[in-house]
Order: sequence, then C-alpha cells, then structure tokens
Amino acid sequence: MTISTGTDTRHVEVVEVGTRDGLQIERHIVPAAVKIDILNDMIASGLRSIEVTSFVSPKAVPQLSDAAEVLGGIKKRHDTYLMALVPNLRAAERAADTPLDAGVLLISASDTHNRKNVNRTIVESMAAFPEVAARLRQAGIGIAGSIATVFGCPFEGEVSIEAVKAIVRAYVDLGIDHVSLGDTTGMATPTNIRSVVRSLNTSFPTVDFSLHLHNTRGIGLANVLVGLDEGVRRFDSSVAGLGGCPFAAGATGNICTEDLIYLLHESGYETGIDLYQAIAVAKKMEKELDRQLSGQVMKAGPRLTRHDADEVRTAAG
Ligand code: ZN
Repeated sequence: MTISTGTDTRHVEVVEVGTRDGLQIERHIVPAAVKIDILNDMIASGLRSIEVTSFVSPKAVPQLSDAAEVLGGIKKRHDTYLMALVPNLRAAERAADTPLDAGVLLISASDTHNRKNVNRTIVESMAAFPEVAARLRQAGIGIAGSIATVFGCPFEGEVSIEAVKAIVRAYVDLGIDHVSLGDTTGMATPTNIRSVVRSLNTSFPTVDFSLHLHNTRGIGLANVLVGLDEGVRRFDSSVAGLGGCPFAAGATGNICTEDLIYLLHESGYETGIDLYQAIAVAKKMEKELDRQLSGQVMKAGPRLTRHDADEVRTAAG
C-alpha cells in the first residue's frame, strides 16, 4: 500500500519520526514496551505514517537495537504505514521479517556528511542501493528514498542542487517515487526551500517530495508554509519536538508534530489527526524522558483554550 497525497487536496500527511530521529540521540534508553505504547497512542490519534525506527547497527545506536521488536508490537490499522531506515544489506535482512511497509534508503547530498554518517562516500552508498532495494522487494516491502543535508551541510556549507538531483535520479532509476528532502541540521530558509523544491518538482514531475525539517534555528514552521505553497503535502515531524542528528554538531530537534498539526489545521488543511490526542502523546513522551521538551502547543494548548479569568493575572501590553 502507498499513501497518496495529491497537491490538489487540502490533506497533508504528517509523518511521525520521533521514535527514530527523536530518540536516536537520547541517552535514556526507552524500553520497547513504552515505545510501542506511545506508537499505538499515535495511531489512535489518527496518525497514519510513521518512521518507527532504523535498522542501523545496534552497536552504533543502542536506542534502536529493538527495531524488530517495536515494529512487531505495533497494532496496525488498515491505513497505517510503517517505515524504517534501512542503511545496508544487513539491515534489510533484519527488516525482512517485520511488518514494515517501506524501507527508507538514506544518503547525504554532502560527501563529508555522508562519510561521517555511514562511513562511505556518496558513490559507495549509491552503489549499494540496488542490492538493498532488491532484498526489500523480495520481502514484499516497499522502498522510499531520503536525502540528508539537502539545504546545507555543517561541514561543507552550501550543497549544490546538482548533487541533490544526481541522488534523486538514482532513486528514480531504482523505481522509487517518494523522496524525502532532509534539512538535517536546520539550515533551510524559506528562500532556499522555495528554490530547491521548485527546481526538483520541475526536473522530476512524477516524484512525490516530502520535507524533513529541523527547527534548529527556529524557522522550521516558516519553512513548512513555503513548502505547502510549493505543493508539498507531506512533512516529517517529531512528537514534542524531539530530535537531532548524533553526527552533526549543533543539530537539534525536528519540527514538532503537535505544533505542525496546529499550524496545518489553523491554515485550512486537514491531517486526520486529533490535536488533543497528539498533545496527550507528547506529554506521555515528556514524562518518560523526565525533562521539558520543546513542543509549544503541548504547553499552551490550542488558541481557543479557555482559562479561568479569576485565576490569571494580566499585565497591559
Ligand atoms: Zn532528521
């Protein structure tokens, strides 16, 4: 099953990545049972698409060593679409017996970042894709493509659109029609979101591009608005704003799921997700990690949340 999101609709697909991108840098190991409980709550809130985990080496990221167990514990609904990063052939072997709907291939558009991330050059990474894709297909699992550092690299600075296009072309050659554009370290601005998305949509009209944004510099949701304007109808986000990249200095959280849902609903889009239930999930995650997380709507509530006037002091201005 694939989830289609046409640009002519007001539906926006929110793709939750909190238990993967969000938790991968957490020192506190969240037990598999807690992850499963939170993921099932997300699905109950109306969320359909979830990047649950990564089949990265358990030694490299112990937090995600429970990938198969977590996937196996999720109560899927008919429209649930579960994804996970599948970085290499060994990962594809581990993913083969799980209820995964799509394995996500990942590569960085910056050679230095790719080497830091997976210890391979871009050319080496791309050369390994066909066997990974073949193994996933053999197991009946779909494939999606993801590109990191599309909007800038913390080591190399600006990333050329030609480097991004070469990777998209490689994905298209593998039969992939959904590609996520990653702003891994929060370097995207409304200006480069517009130019990159427009250029890619023109060059690859049959590819469905989604945006994977981090809020490192506080303009993640501004970038969402520009993406929407350019026809993007699928965004990755993280419960309570968790997230970061362990291999990129200064990279903080993904854009926050509840804040994104709030923005979309208030802007006339629909997500199929109940905002109040999404906030409850964020609070559950905050409780598990035992520290305040960066989501804002989870603290303030939606804009028409009423407060008891007698209990609140006001100040003019
Ligand atoms: Zn990320």
